[in-house]
Amino acid sequence: MKPFTYERVSSAAQAAAAVAERTDAKLIAGGTNLLDLMKLQIEAPGHIVDIRDLPLGSIEETEDGGLRVGALVTNTELAAHVRVRRDYGVLTRAIVAGATGQLRNKATTGGNLMQRTRCPYFYDPAQPCNKRNPGSGCPAIAGGSRQLGVVGTSDHCIATQPSDMAVALTALDATVETLDSAGHARSIPVRSFHKLPGDTPEIDNVLARDEIITGVVLPKPVGGTQMYHKVRDRASYAFALVSVAAIIHPDGSGRVAFGGVAPRPWRDLKSEGQLTEGAEAVTSTAFADAKPTAQNAFKLPLATRTLQMLIDKAGSKMQ
Ligand SMILES: Cc1cc2nc3c(=O)[nH]c(=O)nc-3n(C[C@H](O)[C@H](O)[C@H](O)COP(=O)(O)OP(=O)(O)OC[C@H]3O[C@@H](n4cnc5c(N)ncnc54)[C@H](O)[C@@H]3O)c2cc1C
Ligand code: SF4
Repeated sequence: MKPFTYERVSSAAQAAAAVAERTDAKLIAGGTNLLDLMKLQIEAPGHIVDIRDLPLGSIEETEDGGLRVGALVTNTELAAHVRVRRDYGVLTRAIVAGATGQLRNKATTGGNLMQRTRCPYFYDPAQPCNKRNPGSGCPAIAGGSRQLGVVGTSDHCIATQPSDMAVALTALDATVETLDSAGHARSIPVRSFHKLPGDTPEIDNVLARDEIITGVVLPKPVGGTQMYHKVRDRASYAFALVSVAAIIHPDGSGRVAFGGVAPRPWRDLKSEGQLTEGAEAVTSTAFADAKPTAQNAFKLPLATRTLQMLIDKAGSKMQ
């Protein structure tokens, strides 16, 4: 591992200033993704800014009855929170479908949104990869693409965004709160937080380099039957081939976001309007522009069948 210097900061402003000061600086929270990437030298920061002492570890009620989740709230704490379990069940279910108990105890809300793709070529420094080494090529497109994206991809990258939590946050219309080194705060819908690759696949999201996530805001509860189903190659310790976060109301209307299929959680508002017509109607609109490879075309019917299963389940719960 390349040598690096280390600093522990105590405020979000200090953290943003520290990454603004050095272009080779990197924030660390739970460390469950960054340290793995550093061991492989995929990330090689010269300076680490440890944010674990920041006062961002609590979950508070907002004025409109929603919740503000600090960036350092762990995945375990968020999934287990009494209000989250009661009012945002899709979020609890998505989080516990991810990683393992030990990882969720360390992983934070901010770090989870920022985790990098799980494309196997990205994790193999011996391979070219446009995301890791811009301009070097994308071996996945003509290679092993079973795990990778079918929609929102480009000729430069077909990686997927791996966070389960982000898929549920997208269905819930959550927003990410940030602070930059000039003291500007902004609020970004989770739905548009992750970038599509286009011709700059090395950029995963819309954060500026000196901008840190301070929290995530859940709007007031929307009710409905809230479900998350993740289809994967193993029952544990595996990322989604396809996942579906669905919130379905008694009249059959609702919201749907898909994971494991795109560089961001995939939610198509027009297709949601077709929920009462069944899964096929939703996915034929949501995936109208899909460009699957021969190896991952199975994800399209799999997404339809997974959503139909959740629609049926919601219907049977309401009878
Ligand atoms: C074996 C394994 C299996 C896993 N399986 C799953 C799974 O099934 N589903 C799933 O969703 N996830 C899974 N994960 C990923 C895991 O959820 C993430 O590693 C974790 O959420 C990252 O959070 P962290 O706090 O540890 O981030 P860190 O590793 O500390 O940081 C990750 C990145 O986020 C940046 N960062 C951290 N906090 C902030 C902030 N507040 N503002 C701006 N940038 C920040 C860091 O600079 C770094 O670039 C798995 C991980 C492992 C190792
Ligand atoms: S899909 Fe993206 S991350 Fe994977 S090899 Fe291609 S450029 Fe790299």
